[in-house]
Amino acid sequence: MSPARTHSQALFEAARALIPGGVNSPVRAFLGVGGEPRFIARAKGARITDVDGYTFIDYVCSWGPLILGHAHPRVVQAIREAAARGTSYGAPTAGEVEIARRIAAAMPSVEKLRLVSSGTEAAMSAVRLARAATGRDVLVKFDGCYHGHADSLLVEAGSGVATLGIPGSPGVPEATARLTRSLPYNDLDSARRLFETEGSAIAAVVVEPVAGNMGVVPPAPGFLEGLQDLARTSGALLIFDEVITGFRLGLGGAQGLFGIRPDLTILGKIIGGGLPVGAYGGRADLMAMIAPEGPVYQAGTLSGNPVAVAAGIETLRILERSDYDLLDKRTAGLVQRLKESADAAGVPTSWNRVGSLFTCFFSERPVTDYASAKRADAKRYAAFFHEMLKRRVYLAPSAFEAAFVSLAHEDRDFEQTVKAARKSFQAVAGRTAKS
Ligand code: PMP
Repeated sequence: MSPARTHSQALFEAARALIPGGVNSPVRAFLGVGGEPRFIARAKGARITDVDGYTFIDYVCSWGPLILGHAHPRVVQAIREAAARGTSYGAPTAGEVEIARRIAAAMPSVEKLRLVSSGTEAAMSAVRLARAATGRDVLVKFDGCYHGHADSLLVEAGSGVATLGIPGSPGVPEATARLTRSLPYNDLDSARRLFETEGSAIAAVVVEPVAGNMGVVPPAPGFLEGLQDLARTSGALLIFDEVITGFRLGLGGAQGLFGIRPDLTILGKIIGGGLPVGAYGGRADLMAMIAPEGPVYQAGTLSGNPVAVAAGIETLRILERSDYDLLDKRTAGLVQRLKESADAAGVPTSWNRVGSLFTCFFSERPVTDYASAKRADAKRYAAFFHEMLKRRVYLAPSAFEAAFVSLAHEDRDFEQTVKAARKSFQAVAGRTAKS
């Protein structure tokens, strides 16, 4: 064994023998940036510490759930208390009513909802419901949007699928993939054309109202409204995937921000406060079709798990009293300073930000869809990622992801991040000049 080998490296080797790629979710493996993943030992607030004792300012925040930062004392306390009362009953609890009430209050389009254990499960179930409600099979999604790994949604998907550069996945039956149409994000004309030819077969349009899985891409003005019109006119349902944006862009999510009322909404991440919770909900008449009220089957042994729900409730309670405007302004300030560092180093970048989500694309041109996201220089991102990691800032190990700012990020974290970025952009610029 080489003496320089880190604990992370040793663990990664052991993990690879037992777990595909050594990880339980692909992007964690660092394939998008090269090198080896850090194994994490603990985290607190905006900082994570790896098994070798290195501490990083974290802009992954578990890919979005931790808007309060890691191990928020009140969330940890709620989890402890819930666990002490028993970890699962397979019977209804008061907590499920409370979290449903809080979600419905924050998102008026969600009149009724069902809790599940992941965003994938929520998306898959919402699609089943949409097909049942409309009696149609075709699903419309957008290139670079990711809605979990259910068969019908794994077509031209973002996130890890984009990182690995694969168009879909073996194992998804062609017959299933054929029912999914994937269109360019922000391209209302192509959606119009599709609805003209196939409108009567379309069950639903599912969209990330702010895309977060090809890097952050905001919706063009009128795009979401246009989709809503097309869906309404043709009798299809509009499904917002707010797994990232729900309780991130405000209590009302992206639908609150843009003033749009989708038929169904998919949630996850923040509503579980870092524990596994997802949800789908929307119009009461549609949700009434879900078993046992209706015939559309969907179930889960650990759905509405009391410990996970306790973490979610506590997170939502805190968020109800949090200042989203301030988080937005502080993130804007950070992004402005990061952009200035890139400009000073002469590195062309294009920044997208919505609220506390942002992405730095190494691209001279604006990024508005998956095609333009893919044109950004992912190799340069990888170099930048490693420069930042060296300076103890942990960004997403892929060019096609969002950076997540939490309420726990303090000014000193931003100072350290900007300092690291100045040097990292310079290093990246220098490297390109030499090559
Ligand atoms: N939808 C969106 C928009 C997501 O970002 C994700 C996960 N990143 C999912 C669905 C799937 O959620 P999960 O990983 O909890 O299955």
